[in-house]
Amino acid sequence: MCGCYEGKPATSATIEANGKVYMTLPFSDRQDFEDAQRGRLGDPSPPLIRNSEGRVVWDMPSYLAFEQDAMAPDSINPSLYRQAKLNDICGLFQVTDGIYQVRGYDLSNMTIVESDNGIIIIDPLISCECAEAALELYQEYRVQQGWERQTVMGVIYTHSHIDHFGGVEGVISAAEATARGTPILAPDGFLEEAVSENVYAGPAMGRRAQYMYGAPLPKGPRLQVDAGLGKTQSTGRISLLPPTLNICAQDDGQPTVHVVDGLEIHFQLTPNTEAPAEMNFYFPRYHALCMAENATHNLHNLLTLRGAKVRDALSWSKYLDQAIELFGREAQVLFAQHHWPRWRDTPERLVDYLAKQRDLYRYLNDQTLRMINKGYTGIQIAEQFQLPESLTSEWYCRGYYGSVSHDVKAVYQRYIGWFDGNPADLWELPPEQSAPLYVSYMGGADEVLRRAQEAFDSGEYRWVAQVTKHVVYAEPENSAAKELQADALEQLGYQAETSTWRNFFLMGAYELRSGIQSSVSANAGLSLVQAMTLEQLFDGWGVRLDGPLAGKGGRIALNWIVAERDASTSRARLLVENGAISYVLNKLELTADATLLLAREVLEQLWVGQLSPMAAVEQGLVQIAGSEGQYAAFFALVNGPASQPNPQFPIVTPLPPITW
Ligand SMILES: [Zn+2]
Repeated sequence: MCGCYEGKPATSATIEANGKVYMTLPFSDRQDFEDAQRGRLGDPSPPLIRNSEGRVVWDMPSYLAFEQDAMAPDSINPSLYRQAKLNDICGLFQVTDGIYQVRGYDLSNMTIVESDNGIIIIDPLISCECAEAALELYQEYRVQQGWERQTVMGVIYTHSHIDHFGGVEGVISAAEATARGTPILAPDGFLEEAVSENVYAGPAMGRRAQYMYGAPLPKGPRLQVDAGLGKTQSTGRISLLPPTLNICAQDDGQPTVHVVDGLEIHFQLTPNTEAPAEMNFYFPRYHALCMAENATHNLHNLLTLRGAKVRDALSWSKYLDQAIELFGREAQVLFAQHHWPRWRDTPERLVDYLAKQRDLYRYLNDQTLRMINKGYTGIQIAEQFQLPESLTSEWYCRGYYGSVSHDVKAVYQRYIGWFDGNPADLWELPPEQSAPLYVSYMGGADEVLRRAQEAFDSGEYRWVAQVTKHVVYAEPENSAAKELQADALEQLGYQAETSTWRNFFLMGAYELRSGIQSSVSANAGLSLVQAMTLEQLFDGWGVRLDGPLAGKGGRIALNWIVAERDASTSRARLLVENGAISYVLNKLELTADATLLLAREVLEQLWVGQLSPMAAVEQGLVQIAGSEGQYAAFFALVNGPASQPNPQFPIVTPLPPITW
C-alpha cells in the first residue's frame, strides 16, 4: 500500500453538491448522538488491535484523527459524515441492567448478556483478536466493580454472516466449549449458509468486499471514512465453532423459548431477510429486544455490492411486522448487532422505528414491481424511484449501507433476472470486444478523452466514468484515460451518501492510479473447513474442478471412507464424468477405481492444500485400495493451477481471455 496516496481535492461541483445536503436533511436532530453515547462506561482509548505477530487488525485511532470537526470536509457527503461520526463512538456501553455492548471494536457489535452464573455472548465479531479485546473491556469493567471475571455460559449467533461469528474463538476456545458443554445457539440453517456464503463464491466476494468496505484504502477525508454499518472490516483470525443448538420456528408463529443459564429467551426466526438464516429475540427479564441485523440505523442491502444471493424485501418487511406484534409493545429497549440502541423514551419510539423500516422494504418491493409491470427495467426504475418523505426524513431509513438505487435493481433481479428483455442486450459483446469498437466509432481515444474532459469540467462525473471505461478497456495502457476515469470516480465517491458506493468509487480510482496492491484480509484458515459437511467439501471441489480438462478425460470413480472426529464413519461414492462432479452419500460403488480410507482431519488438510495428495499416501494418512493413479488424477483436477482462484483479480481493467 502506498502511504503517500492522498486523493485529489473536491471540485467546485462536488463542494456545491455536498453543501446542498445540509439544506435537505434534519441535522439539528441530535437524538442519535445522545443514544450512541448513552450508557457509555469509562473513556477507554480508541482501540488499536494487533494480532500475535504485531500486525494491526483493527484501527480506530486513525479515523478519529480526521473525524473531529462538526462540519464535513468537502470530500465527504455530510450525511455520510454524520453516520461516520456516530460510528466513531466506541467502547463499552450499558444497554440496560444486565446487557452491555462493545461497539467500535470491529464492523459489528458484540453484545454481552448477564445470565445466572456468567454471561452470554451475542455475535463475537469478525476476528478473534477483536472479540478477545472486546470481552476484556467488559471483564475489566466488572473486575473494577469488585466482581469476579465472568464465565461465558453460552454464545448466540444472530445470523450467518461472518461479522457475527468469526471471532468466536476470541471469547471461548473450542476445547473449553467442548469440555464445559457451552451451548452455541444459531438460527436453523446457519451452518449451511455460513459456509456456502464464504466458500463457494468466497474468493470473488472477498475481492469485491475490498471495494465495498474499502479496507485496502488508506483512511482519510479523501479516502476511506466509514462502511455505514460500522467503520470497516477487521483483518484478524477468523474462527467458527459449529452451533450445538439450531433454533427452529414454531408452527403457530409464536416465539420459540429456550433457557440458557437460567435466562429465558424468546426467539423469532426470520429466514430470508437480511441473511438466509437469521433470528430476532427478546429477553423478558430485561425487557430488551435484539433485532439482529434486521433493523439497524440505515437502509440495508437487498443485494450486497460484494455479491450474494439477492434478498427478499417482502419477507423482510413481514418479519419486521411480526416483531412489532410479538415484542414491540413490551420491549423497553431495542438493540441490534450494528449501531446504537433505541430506548422507549416515548411510548411509540420503538414501534415507529420498526414500522418505518417495515414500510421501507415493503415500498421498495411493491413499487418496483408496480413499475416492472409497466415495462420499466431496473436501471430505469432506479433512476426515477422516490420514497415518501416520511421515510426519507428519518436518518435510520437513509442509505448508508444499501441504497434505494441498488436495492431497486435488486428487486428487479429477484423477480425478473439479469435480462432486460431488449434483444439488443441479449447477446452483447463483452467490454474487451466492444470497447475498441466504441472508441474507434467515436473518433479515437484522444477525441473521446477531449470531450470527456469537457464533461468532467462541467461536473458530469457519472457520464465521464461510463464513457472513459471504453477507452480504458480498449487501451489498458492509456494512462490519461485511466487518470480521467479515476478523477471522475473519485468525485462520485466524495458525493456519495452510501458508504459502500463511496468505497467502490474510491477503490476504483485507487486501482486505476496505483494498480492492484496486495492486500491483507481476514484469514479463515481451517476453522471454516472443519465446520463443513462432507457434501459441502465435495461441492467445494466441484467449484474448483478443472471442468474442461476433466471433460476431455475419462471417468473417475472414488469411494471415500472417512473416520469422523466423533468416531463415526462417513461413506460416499464420488464420480467425475463429463467434466462435472456428482456423488452419493452413504453408498460405495463396487466397481470404483479406488477406495480411500482416511481421517476427517486428513481430508480437511487435503481440501485446503496444506497436505499434498502424494505425501498423504506416503505418510500412510490415506490408504488406497485400487488405482493410485486415479486418486492422483482426481487431485490434479481440483488442486492444479486452473483450480486456484485469483484473489486479486482486476475489476476496473480488462481480464485476459479464458482458456478452456
Ligand atoms: Zn453484520
